[in-house]
Amino acid sequence: MRFLNGMLAVMVAATLCVGLAEAAEFDPATSSVTDADDGISIDLAFSAPIPYRAFLLDDPARLVVDLSGVDFGSMRAGDLDRSDGVLSLGWGPIRTGWSRLVAELDGPYRMTSVEERVNDSANIVIRLEPISPEEFASLMTKGSEDNDLWALSQPVEEPKPKRRQTGAEPLIVVLDPGHGGIDPGAEAGGVTEAEVMLEFSRELAVLLNNSGMTAVMTRDHNDFVPLETRVSLARAIGADVFLSLHADTLAEGLAKGATVYVLSQSASDSAAAHLAERHDRADLLAGVDLTGQGDLVAEVMMDMARVETQPRSERLARALEASIKGAGLKMHRRPIQRAGFTVLKAPDIPSVLLEIGFLSSTTDRARLADPVWRDAMHQAILGALRDWAVADAAEATQIRQ
Ligand SMILES: [Zn+2]
Repeated sequence: MRFLNGMLAVMVAATLCVGLAEAAEFDPATSSVTDADDGISIDLAFSAPIPYRAFLLDDPARLVVDLSGVDFGSMRAGDLDRSDGVLSLGWGPIRTGWSRLVAELDGPYRMTSVEERVNDSANIVIRLEPISPEEFASLMTKGSEDNDLWALSQPVEEPKPKRRQTGAEPLIVVLDPGHGGIDPGAEAGGVTEAEVMLEFSRELAVLLNNSGMTAVMTRDHNDFVPLETRVSLARAIGADVFLSLHADTLAEGLAKGATVYVLSQSASDSAAAHLAERHDRADLLAGVDLTGQGDLVAEVMMDMARVETQPRSERLARALEASIKGAGLKMHRRPIQRAGFTVLKAPDIPSVLLEIGFLSSTTDRARLADPVWRDAMHQAILGALRDWAVADAAEATQIRQ
């Protein structure tokens, strides 16, 4: 059980019935997240009773509440948080029909009560009390094994190593729209990275499919998909190429233009390192338990398959740079960069992460909203994939001879 081990399932109110079609509406006016009696009090009000489940995770300490058939509306989770004990609060879709609330806690806690009070509305009330790290650790090891329904990622059987593409078959391109669901990614100018990338990827998939390639998306809805799952999906379908698509924000604020990122243990600069960390952290805060995974990137870089795959990824990055620049589209002043992105770690699939632009840049935001600009970028990516596939297949033939 790679994910959610150490999870403590405390309650499932699955016997309550709700209409399938109607989502219970969240009522912010009578909901609260506050400090109370040395602990934390969470009160979530909905228009109707709902099945839910609450549990704790460690590293870092988090309270996770999964809720069925609820609509959180447009309110941002952070605006509800009045508790010093809650470091960050997030919510959003986690899988079809289910939403998740995650509260990152300032230390170890236990749940002293979890209940659903049903009157005119339904209130889910949770009380947390601080405990010692030792007590918390023992709570975690007693965690439920009954996780299958809830695990965010099912262990996928290790596929056979992918044979290198030769050009004889349609190129299988996995498009990975960054973020989604409870993880909106960057937010600026009233749009989220998750929705902008979903639209961009859908359009690109149509173009690739109409051009003799086979495009497969890691998500086709506003769903949360853990980074590890994106990689295992690509491996399970025998992808030839993995292209993760993003439009993040950068702290420096001045960064603009498309940027290609290749997997590396050492980041090209602190901004690149920070970007990769932020993606991992979004996974963590969504409730993915990364305990015991160690330094995945270090492990992957040692992998023999990587020795062959890495130069193929580098070639893909150069093909993208050439094609995007060739189309007259703006690239970052350092167009190819490196960092330890978890999503790029498939040992046998050439993988790159493309920041189409940065949502933190108003210029880039305007470009992303322009269908003419997007079309030019889609064509540039198609061109790069074609050029890359030809050179890659030629090299494969050479190696075999
Ligand atoms: Zn991103």
